[in-house]
Amino acid sequence: MLTKRVKRLNESMTIAISTLARNLKAEGKDVLSFSAGEPDFDTPEIIKEEAIKALKKGFTKYTAVAGIPELLEAISLKLKRDNGLKYKPSNIITSNGAKHSLFNLFQSLIEHGDEVIIPAPYWVTYPELVRYSGGIPITVETTDESGFKISAKQLKDAITPRTKMLILTTPSNPTGSVYSKKELEEIAEVLKGTDIFVCSDEMYEKLIYDKEFVSVASISDDMFQRTITVNGLSKSVAMTGWRFGYLATPLDELVDAMKKLQSQSASNINSITQHAAIPALDGRADKDIEFMRQEFQKRRDLAVGLINDIDGLSVVKPDGAFYLFINIKEISNDSMNFAQELLAKKGVAVIPGIGFGSEGYVRFSFATDEKSIIEGIKRIKEFVS
Ligand code: PMP
Ligand code: GLU
Repeated sequence: MLTKRVKRLNESMTIAISTLARNLKAEGKDVLSFSAGEPDFDTPEIIKEEAIKALKKGFTKYTAVAGIPELLEAISLKLKRDNGLKYKPSNIITSNGAKHSLFNLFQSLIEHGDEVIIPAPYWVTYPELVRYSGGIPITVETTDESGFKISAKQLKDAITPRTKMLILTTPSNPTGSVYSKKELEEIAEVLKGTDIFVCSDEMYEKLIYDKEFVSVASISDDMFQRTITVNGLSKSVAMTGWRFGYLATPLDELVDAMKKLQSQSASNINSITQHAAIPALDGRADKDIEFMRQEFQKRRDLAVGLINDIDGLSVVKPDGAFYLFINIKEISNDSMNFAQELLAKKGVAVIPGIGFGSEGYVRFSFATDEKSIIEGIKRIKEFVS
């Protein structure tokens, strides 16, 4: 009955385990969940106020597919101010979350048999969406020793005549690694003269701790032309449920294709969300964003210290995002089994590394309160010993 392409698709492991943990909690089980990539903070007040205002003013109708002009203008200004990128408002499309932006992009650019280079560990969704678009995910392994970053040499070795795209995520989900300007310049050098596109997923841009954030499209004009910059507000402004993502590219033909696709699938995104997003982009929510960032940094330091105190576990301190990618290799080489047993015996939910393409690790989200982090890691310690 079902199509081959949908049968090939795997459910998002991050969503599946987060849902399982939520259901167990609802049944009254003592479960501590470190599975979801979702801030525990509420959406900042200024954003809610703007949403209420929009609702009261009756902004409840269809809008242009890409978004209302004032929103596209706000995104264009944000990209210039924060990232040094000059995208015209007409080169930006908003979608129902960055996941939807990625879907539109891959459907529009990836042809059957095209190869897409994905550094592993990767966010669960990339290979699934690439395959769904007919492409072939080519994973390039990284480990904790290299700080979970691919080198220019690794990239060069992975390129073939069929390579269509490279997906770069900085800061990374699930490792929190952040590429420096120099590392991005080296990557840019490898891509020079090729016709390979770069999908730059900048979802965790604002959640960065000891490093400077650099947009790969800002490295050179050559990189600007070949890069599609993808971002959203789910993580940085605690707006996961509002469903807001966007992408930008200077290539008009690509913009038109993605708009056409969205016009036949989802139309515009929620009109209230569009108005609410403006203060999140124009600087009015910066104080709230900074408050959350500092809280995440404190939790990161706490969690890294506690995990590295456990015999048999180790973790590289992440420079961004809100995940620890914990090395469990001394204990187990079956991260699925480790995660299942940990949930069954100790009521602690984490995501198996295998879901991110790297066996021997589990992902622990520290986007939760300190008390839960302390209790959760205490239970992990008991489990491991
Ligand atoms: N990119 C990365 C790296 C993510 O972790 C997520 C998390 N959901 C997304 C994109 C998509 O987020 P959203 O669809 O909520 O905008
Ligand atoms: N991106 C988040 C995560 O990695 C949310 C779930 C999802 O969309 O995959 O947990």
